[in-house]
Amino acid sequence: MTLVDIGANLTHSSFREDLEAVLARARDAGVGTICVTGTSLQESRRAIEIAEAHPQLYATAGVHPHHARECDDATIPALRALAAHPRVVALGECGLDFNRNYSPHPDQEKWFEAQLDLACEIGKPLFLHSRDALPRFAEVLGARRARLPRAVAHCFTGEKAELYAYLDLGLYIGITGWICDERRGAHLLELVREIPRERLLIETDSPYLTPRDLRPQPRARRNEPAFLPHILRTVARALGRTAEEVGDETARNARMLFGRS
Ligand SMILES: [Zn+2]
Repeated sequence: MTLVDIGANLTHSSFREDLEAVLARARDAGVGTICVTGTSLQESRRAIEIAEAHPQLYATAGVHPHHARECDDATIPALRALAAHPRVVALGECGLDFNRNYSPHPDQEKWFEAQLDLACEIGKPLFLHSRDALPRFAEVLGARRARLPRAVAHCFTGEKAELYAYLDLGLYIGITGWICDERRGAHLLELVREIPRERLLIETDSPYLTPRDLRPQPRARRNEPAFLPHILRTVARALGRTAEEVGDETARNARMLFGRS
């Protein structure tokens, strides 16, 4: 079984000292491929750099809604150039975040739409972020439905209506260690059963979202791709299926999403 972590923020400063050891632990844990999330132009360039240096890594290129206020006329041409890099498998992370509101909503919407239009134009898969942004998020995607490339709603933490809104748009669904959190993720144990098998993906979102039930808890509670099998086991248990089966299936889905089959 070779797993794919579809989202890890390996450009985060907490990995600066020991990235090689982190990648070795991931390999030992059966995580064969990791997609490094780009969240700004600078971080996307850095994600590509480390993907160039490590055969098990791919990268995304995009601007996270938190950084939408930093975008300007040069942003989309720069993303178009980065997206052409052979290690870049998706545009993103892009989307809407009406929870933290680090960027004003008009900026978020403008640059989300611009990145969606770029993805439609070049046919690149999308790595999407949405937090407290329904129904706007679904409206913006729905307006481009006919042209939309394959896309994943990464780190799904929502309720049933949100899940079905995404499934209706044809999105893949990324499940993180949120599902291991007995306080705020318990509803996902039920909901994950409603995700069609060919749409389910797993991810760590490292260094964030360390599974709460992981024992012992890692130093500084830093999450890393080697913990993906822990998330997989929780998902498989919730589905009443074996981790091997679900692991193979989610890896196949990831290759399908990113067009690397
Ligand atoms: Zn996100």
